[in-house]
Amino acid sequence: MARLLARAEPARERVLVPLRRNCPGCGGHMRLRYENRRTLVTLSGSVRLRLKIRRCEHKGCARHHLAYRPEAEGAMALSQHEFGLDVVALVGVLRHRDHRSVPEIHAALRARGVEIAERSVTNLLDRYDELLATSLSDTRRLRRVLAKQGRAILALDGMQPDVGHEVLWVVRECLSGEVLLARSLLSGTAEDLASLLAEVAKAIGVPVEGVVSDGQTSIRRAVERALPGVPHQLCQFHFLREAANPVYEADRHAKKELKKGVRGVRRIERTVEGRQDGKAELVLGYCAAVRSAITDDGRTPLAAPGLKLKGRLEAVADSLDRVMEKGAHPRRSRGSAT
Ligand SMILES: [Zn+2]
Repeated sequence: MARLLARAEPARERVLVPLRRNCPGCGGHMRLRYENRRTLVTLSGSVRLRLKIRRCEHKGCARHHLAYRPEAEGAMALSQHEFGLDVVALVGVLRHRDHRSVPEIHAALRARGVEIAERSVTNLLDRYDELLATSLSDTRRLRRVLAKQGRAILALDGMQPDVGHEVLWVVRECLSGEVLLARSLLSGTAEDLASLLAEVAKAIGVPVEGVVSDGQTSIRRAVERALPGVPHQLCQFHFLREAANPVYEADRHAKKELKKGVRGVRRIERTVEGRQDGKAELVLGYCAAVRSAITDDGRTPLAAPGLKLKGRLEAVADSLDRVMEKGAHPRRSRGSAT
C-alpha cells in the first residue's frame, strides 16, 4: 500500500525486553538471541521499538527455537500494525461514542499531531471493530493454537486514549501474541476485570500459567479473584513508560534553556555586516554554526534533542576557546588563555 505521508524519523526509542526468562516449554533459561525493530505511531508521537527476543535452545523442547517476544509489545500495538493501540482506541471512541465521521476523526488525529492518511483512519476503524468482535468461543484457529501450546500466559492492558473516555481493555496471550478478548468499558473495577479474565480462562481450554500486567490495584484484585493462585508478574515496561515522559520533558526544557543562552546571534552578525575581512568571516562562521545547531530539530532519531544541542554548542564554544587562545598567544600553539 502506498504511503500518503512521509514519516519523520521517530524521536524516541524504546527497548523492550521479555520479562520471562524461563522457557514455558521446558523451564530452561531462554537467552536473548536477537532483536527486532519496528516503528509505531502513537498519540504521543512516533517511537522506534527495539524488541529483544528470547529463544529456547534446548533440543527436544516443544518450544525449541520458538521466539518469545517482549510481553509489553502487544500492550502498545497489534502485530503488523503501524499505529499504536492508543490510536486505535481513540479512533473507536471518536466513531462509536462521539459518532464522528472518518474525515472528522482524521482531522482530530492530525490536530493531535498524529501523522495519518484519511484512508488509514478507515483501516483503523476496521481494526477496532475486529478487535472488539474477537470472540474465543467461535474462533477455532485460536483454540487450536492454544491447544498446541498446552498453556496460556495472559496479559491484561487498559488503553485510555483520553481522560474521561472509555478504556479499551485487551486480554492477550503472550506465547502466541494473539488477542483473546477486547472490551471497551466505562469503568475498570476489579469486578469488571475479573469477569473479563474469568470469561477468557473458561473459553481457552488450557490452563493459565501466569498473568502479566502493569499491576494497578484493580487488575491485581481481579487476577486474585478470577485466577486464584496464578502467578502475576508486573511489567516494568509500564513503569518505564511512565518514567520516559518526564525525561523527554526535561530534555525539551533543557533545550529551551540552552537556546535562551545563544539568543543574540543576529545582533552579533549585524556588527560585522558589510565587512569582508577575515575576522568578520570568522564571526559569521561561528554565528552560522550556532544557528544551525539551534535549528537542527527532529532529525535526531535516537538522540535526545536537548543533549544533542548541548553537544553542538559545546563544540562551538571549545572551538572559540581555541581561537581565543591562539589570538592571545599568537606564537604558541597551546597556552592557558582565558
Ligand atoms: Zn524449552
